[in-house]
Amino acid sequence: MQNFNFHNPTKLYFGKGQLTQLREELPRYGSKILLVYGGGSIKRNGLYDSTLEILNDLNMEVFELNGVEPNPRLSTARKGVDICQKENIDFILAVGGGSTIDCTKAIAVGANSDSDIWDIITKKSEAQGALPFGTVLTLAATGSEMNPGSVITNWETKEKHGWGSPFSFPVFSILDPENTFTVPRDQTVYGIVDIMSHALEHYFHHETNTLLQDRMVEGILKTVIETAPLLLDDLENYDHRATILYNGTMALNGMVSMGYHGDWATHNLEHAVSAVYDIPHGGGLAILFPNWMEYAIDANVIRFKQLATRVFDVDPTNKSDKEIGLEGIQRLRAFWNSLDAPSRLSDYDIKEDGVEEMAQKTVAASSSFGNFKSLTKEDAINIYKKSL
Ligand code: NAP
Ligand code: FE
Repeated sequence: MQNFNFHNPTKLYFGKGQLTQLREELPRYGSKILLVYGGGSIKRNGLYDSTLEILNDLNMEVFELNGVEPNPRLSTARKGVDICQKENIDFILAVGGGSTIDCTKAIAVGANSDSDIWDIITKKSEAQGALPFGTVLTLAATGSEMNPGSVITNWETKEKHGWGSPFSFPVFSILDPENTFTVPRDQTVYGIVDIMSHALEHYFHHETNTLLQDRMVEGILKTVIETAPLLLDDLENYDHRATILYNGTMALNGMVSMGYHGDWATHNLEHAVSAVYDIPHGGGLAILFPNWMEYAIDANVIRFKQLATRVFDVDPTNKSDKEIGLEGIQRLRAFWNSLDAPSRLSDYDIKEDGVEEMAQKTVAASSSFGNFKSLTKEDAINIYKKSL
């Protein structure tokens, strides 16, 4: 285990009826609010009305930025920055999934920094601060509600980049499982795959003495594997929604990843696919992760064996370590298939002629990527071809 410092300033309000905490939280920050949301799901399920009722009761002056895209775009974040600067906004409230929250992070940092937000995202300049912002989460997936990360797509250059700064933690996040009842089945599955992928990205490292960390990551994977089929049979089941929601936050809020660095190559590979083809993040991960695992298994067979036996209950009798590891990967694939997650790039009509462009994007920022197994553009080509 390496040395580490841990600080997570996001205050979490979890459970039924927690939206009312806005009444306590918001007056602390001023009276001019920018409300950020997506394509309209919150208008259809009533969350927009209940949020606005509270903002009106508090006499807030409300500005709106709607239409944040899944895979949120730089152009939308820039619109938000303009509103904040022109109207002297005090606080930003994101109501939505990871895309709405990630876009809000870019707006908050862009509004309080001299540089253009894309220069900050691409690390040409540094964030100098941020407007305070809070979130009302509506979809269990990204963990963005309790981390400083954000993923933004520049649609003009077809680049999708993850970034973060010490200023981009939400000051609070409200997680009411009931606000996730209306997430459709397919989006629920993408969220489940994303949560499991965050756990898996953590799991693949070469650090020693991560005994508790391993058990916590395995706990997330086992809990999600147990709960996902029950939830998909009963999408408005409070307990199952709550379990998945809590797992989503824990999988990427830093709590299970202290003292080591996970791999993250598969996220890089997926961002390149989404940048070019605008597919759902979880759909891309479901296709790529098992293929990356088979490609990377020799980097540390013992990690794969441990995953296979502890999480996927593979019987190790009379098998080599690698056979055990490979069986674990097959079980992961079979599990995601059983949820109807996509399994091939061709499910999104992506063909071999797209491989070169995607692979080029994976190495745009640096010539290699991945901490557990360092990959080059050539490796990216091989993994994409294996995933066609
Ligand atoms: P999302 O893109 O925010 O939302 C996906 C879809 O679900 C949208 O069409 C949205 O509709 C709908 N939706 C959301 N909540 C709903 C509800 N309660 N009822 C009905 N429909 C609902 O999905 P996401 O998976 O949370 O976010 C994906 C993005 O996060 C990707 O860009 C990915 O790269 C990024 N990501 C970020 C992190 C991080 O740490 N920051 C980690 C992993 C991935 P509306 O637009 O109409 O609301
Ligand atoms: Fe993710």
